[in-house]
Amino acid sequence: MTQYDYLVVGAGLTGAVFAERARAAGRKCLVIDRRDHIAGNCYTESVRGINVHRYGAHIFHTSDRGVWDYVNRFAEFNSYVNCPVADYHGRMYNLPFNMNTFAQMWGVRTPAEARAVIERQRAEAAIEGEPRNLEEQALSLVGRDIFEKLVKEYTEKQWGCSCAELPPSIIKRLPVRYVYDNNYFNDRWQGIPVGGYTKMVAAMLDGVEVLTGVEYRDFAAANPGAAGRVVYTGPIDEYFGFRLGELEWRTVRFETELLEGVENWQGNAVVNYTSHDEPFTRIIEHKWFEFGRDEAGEMLPDTVISREYSSAWKPGDEPYYPINDEKNNALFERYWELGQAEEGVVFAGRLGAYRYYDMAPCIAAALDLAERELSE
Ligand SMILES: Cc1cc2nc3c(=O)[nH]c(=O)nc-3n(C[C@H](O)[C@H](O)[C@H](O)COP(=O)(O)OP(=O)(O)OC[C@H]3O[C@@H](n4cnc5c(N)ncnc54)[C@H](O)[C@@H]3O)c2cc1C
Repeated sequence: MTQYDYLVVGAGLTGAVFAERARAAGRKCLVIDRRDHIAGNCYTESVRGINVHRYGAHIFHTSDRGVWDYVNRFAEFNSYVNCPVADYHGRMYNLPFNMNTFAQMWGVRTPAEARAVIERQRAEAAIEGEPRNLEEQALSLVGRDIFEKLVKEYTEKQWGCSCAELPPSIIKRLPVRYVYDNNYFNDRWQGIPVGGYTKMVAAMLDGVEVLTGVEYRDFAAANPGAAGRVVYTGPIDEYFGFRLGELEWRTVRFETELLEGVENWQGNAVVNYTSHDEPFTRIIEHKWFEFGRDEAGEMLPDTVISREYSSAWKPGDEPYYPINDEKNNALFERYWELGQAEEGVVFAGRLGAYRYYDMAPCIAAALDLAERELSE
C-alpha cells in the first residue's frame, strides 16, 4: 500500500532540500540513508567542541541569491573566508595565485613586475598551438615556476598520474590575480554554518520522517509500493546493478587525529602540500573553520587534523570525484537513458547525475527538481 508520496533515497543536501520542499508542499515523504547519519558528504560531527568535516573540508560559497537566502533559513553562517596556503619543500605560499604568492616566489612588489615574470616564463615555455595535455595547458597559463612548485606534483597526487598524461580540460583556467587578495573564492557570499552542516541539514529535515542505516535495495524489497515516487540520490550505476559497467571515481582517504592540549597546530584551516615529499595532498585543521572558538567565544584547548590521501576508487570505497572523461561520460549517458525510462524514479544529486557539484549548485538543482516534481 502506498504510504508516502515520495521515498527520498539519500539524506545528503539533495535529498534534504527535496524533502523540505515536498513537506512544505504538503507531500508525505520518507527519507532513507544507508549511512548511520544524515547530511551526506557535508556531515560534520562534534569532537571536543570542534565540528569535524568527516568527508572532507566543506566551505559554502555562492553568488546565487536564491540559494543564499534559502540556506540562511536553516542556519546562521559565520564570516569564514577560505585562504588556503601551500607548503612546497617547507616554504609557504599563499593561494590562490595572487600578489602575495608572487612576492613570496620572486620578491616582486608590483603587479607590473609580477606580470613581466609570468609573461617571460609563458613565452619561454613556447607551447605552440592548442595545449595537448594539462602540463602544456598550465605552462601556457602561468609559466614554469608556479606550475612546478604549486601545480604539478599536487595535481599528480590528486589524479595518480603525470600531468603530461592528463587532459588539458581539467584546468581550463588557473586564476591569476594581480592584487594582494588571498580569498580563494570570487563568490559574493561564503561561510560555514554555525554549529556545523549536520545542524543545518537537520533543520531542513525538521518534520520529515528519516531512517538512517537503511539500504534502498533492502527497503524496496521489504516495502514494495511504499511510495508513489522515488527520488534517488545514490550512484546511478549501482541502482541498475552495474549492468552496463562501473562508472569510475577518485576517492579520498582521511587520516584524522585528535591532538589533545594542542591549541594551534598549523595556523590555518587548509594547508596544501604541493610536492611529492608528502604522500597526502592537504591537511585540514577543522577548528579554524569556526575561528578556533566555541559558541561562547572561548578558544578550544584541543585540535583535530585530517590528512587527505587521494587514490583510485574501487568498489566499496566512497565515490568522491567523478572521472568525467569521454569513456565515463558516454557510459553515464547510457545509464541516464535507462533512468529516464524507469517508471516513478528520478535520479538526482552528485551520485545520480555523475557530476561534481559544489553545495550551492547542488541545492539549486534540488530546488529546480522540487519545483518541477511538485507542480505536477
Ligand atoms: C572531498 C570533497 C570536498 C568538497 N568540498 C566542498 C566545498 O568546500 N564546497 C562545496 O560547495 N562543495 C564541496 N563538495 C561537494 C559537496 O559534498 C556536494 O555538493 C554535496 O555533498 C552533494 O550532496 P548530495 O546530496 O548530492 O550527495 P551526498 O552528500 O553524497 O549524499 C548522498 C547520500 O545518499 C546515500 N545513499 C547512496 N546510495 C544509497 C542507497 N542505495 N541507499 C541508501 N542511501 C544511499 C549516501 O549514503 C549519501 O549520504 C565537496 C565534495 C567532496 C567529495
